[in-house]
Amino acid sequence: MLEKIIAGGASALGISLPDGAAERYRGYFEALLGANRDFNLTAIEGEDEAARLHLLDSVAVLGAAKIEGGIIDVGTGGGLPGVALKIARPELDMTLLDATEKKVAFLDRVTSGLGIPCRCVCGRAEELGREPEYRERFDVAVSRAVARLNSLAELCMPFVKVGGRFLAMKAADSDGEIEEAGPAIDKLGGRLSDIREYTIPGTDIVRRVAVIEKIAHTPENYPRRWAAIQKRPIK
Ligand code: SAH
Repeated sequence: MLEKIIAGGASALGISLPDGAAERYRGYFEALLGANRDFNLTAIEGEDEAARLHLLDSVAVLGAAKIEGGIIDVGTGGGLPGVALKIARPELDMTLLDATEKKVAFLDRVTSGLGIPCRCVCGRAEELGREPEYRERFDVAVSRAVARLNSLAELCMPFVKVGGRFLAMKAADSDGEIEEAGPAIDKLGGRLSDIREYTIPGTDIVRRVAVIEKIAHTPENYPRRWAAIQKRPIK
């Protein structure tokens, strides 16, 4: 059962959850299920799997690095990891960004319904990252399952203040991808400071968070348009 899996899993990860979190995870899960009938938000494999592979996987990020202040979840889709993090830490100032209108409408509805207000923004990361309202305004950017790290860094790093960090949620076998992204991380003002691994409780799935500190401003010519990011990744 979802409530038990999350409570037990969070405690196995050493992460405390506030009162009311279990009910909110339940409410969020039901909303995801309902929305999935209309559009494919995220692969939902049943309650227990969703609790582990989506919710606990997201909560685990709290154990990987300092997460406080203003957060942006880039390519949040149905709200992962952003909604799961906001339920665990309601004090976070959470911005959920996605390029798809119907997903953002869903997130707006769900987060206000659950009493965990988030700023839900529809737009493309590579465009908003050039706007003064968003550029270098966040303490933390986080992202899961959006793009390969060399491209993803160009989407996410522009949002982060110097002194903040970008947390990339990746699979255990991402050594090559992380190495390949080295020049991009460097050029965008970052420094890979840690790779935190965890096993999702109740599974044997190992996941990791690449922790990238922002140590310098991102040069003005980044982010580029998506076509350029993909065609000519930073080398
Ligand atoms: N993070 C979620 C969703 C992953 S699917 C999860 O882990 O379940 C990838 C999402 O990223 C999609 O919803 C897509 O609309 C969004 N996306 C892809 N490229 C984007 C971009 N350049 N700017 C904003 N959103 C983007």
